[in-house]
Amino acid sequence: MSEHFTVTATDGAARAGVLHTAHGAVPTPAFMPVGTKGTVKGVGPEELRALGATIVLGNTYHLSFRPGADVVAELGGLHAFMGWDGPILTDSGGFQVFSLRHTLEAVDDDGVTFRSVYDGDLARLTPELAAKIQASLGSDIAMCLDVCPPADVPRAELKEAARLTTTWATRHRAAPRTPGQLVFGIAQGGTDPALRRRSIEEIAELDFDGNALGGLSVGEDRATLFETVGWAAPLLPAGKPRYFMGIGDPEGILEVIERGIDMFDCVLPTRLGRTGTAITRDGRLNLKNARFTRDPRPLDATCDCPACSRFSRAYIRHLVKENELLGLRLLSLHNLRYLLDLTAGARAAIESGRLALFKAEVVDRLAQQPAAPETETETAWSR
Ligand SMILES: [Zn+2]
Repeated sequence: MSEHFTVTATDGAARAGVLHTAHGAVPTPAFMPVGTKGTVKGVGPEELRALGATIVLGNTYHLSFRPGADVVAELGGLHAFMGWDGPILTDSGGFQVFSLRHTLEAVDDDGVTFRSVYDGDLARLTPELAAKIQASLGSDIAMCLDVCPPADVPRAELKEAARLTTTWATRHRAAPRTPGQLVFGIAQGGTDPALRRRSIEEIAELDFDGNALGGLSVGEDRATLFETVGWAAPLLPAGKPRYFMGIGDPEGILEVIERGIDMFDCVLPTRLGRTGTAITRDGRLNLKNARFTRDPRPLDATCDCPACSRFSRAYIRHLVKENELLGLRLLSLHNLRYLLDLTAGARAAIESGRLALFKAEVVDRLAQQPAAPETETETAWSR
């Protein structure tokens, strides 16, 4: 156990616990809504709190370009700037740099050079700079700068990415942080057993406050993804939080929780919301579908979110069809509530030793629905 993290219950490989940060406690497993540009799109801080969110994620890449980490720091840090006084995790910016591959210019031992998606200007990110930006933002959890290649690269490239990730993690570990800030390491290595194993050993050796599995959910098939998490998660230090970067579909969340993951994030709930799709326990509903025109039911009869407690599918479909902001907002609120509720349910199930049953019920119910065209797999690349 670390002083920041306590495992309070286990069920097989799954764990329930509490992560203590400078801005409060995070019960785990925890789903982290993504506030890319300092906002979970369309959803205010009080609403997030009411939905059950205990921690949100901010993106270093975007915030460092717009409005700039110095601006955020001058206005009191990211918590004050975005009006959220709960825990915040910031990524290192590396994921965006490496996923926007057409903007990559050069990767060397010291850092990475790329072109900004905002103005095309050359920009540079090093471990020290990633640490400095995250210290300026004042997040509760800072992530190491890592090299995250897509799933289909040659093994040599995967190996080099893991090597650089360790080199950079060592430097990030030594860089200054803001008082009370936790720093998490990231293991790479794709789905390659030897490379992943070695990367985990090297990152664990650096004794970070928590550890993440990066470089998964980047285009590999789902069976391989979960198989890898199954043997890789238990290799991460047991007394520290384990973060799976980039998963947010209901089945995926339960699969990684079952394998011992404590934290995860995804833009899926708000992204789907903005495209007119609701995530429900009976599968996804595409509100653009004509079958909802006269549907008086709520999105989900068992949901207590602001959308389901007041509005019909027909009304929300009308709003979506007319591109009304309220429609997209209601769907985002509902989708977040569903995933936060699902995660809380999994936590309760772990505490009572019935996670397998809980998962089977959720997955069976989802599987009963006819496969709709909108159920395509979302990966971290679509962040
Ligand atoms: Zn709802």
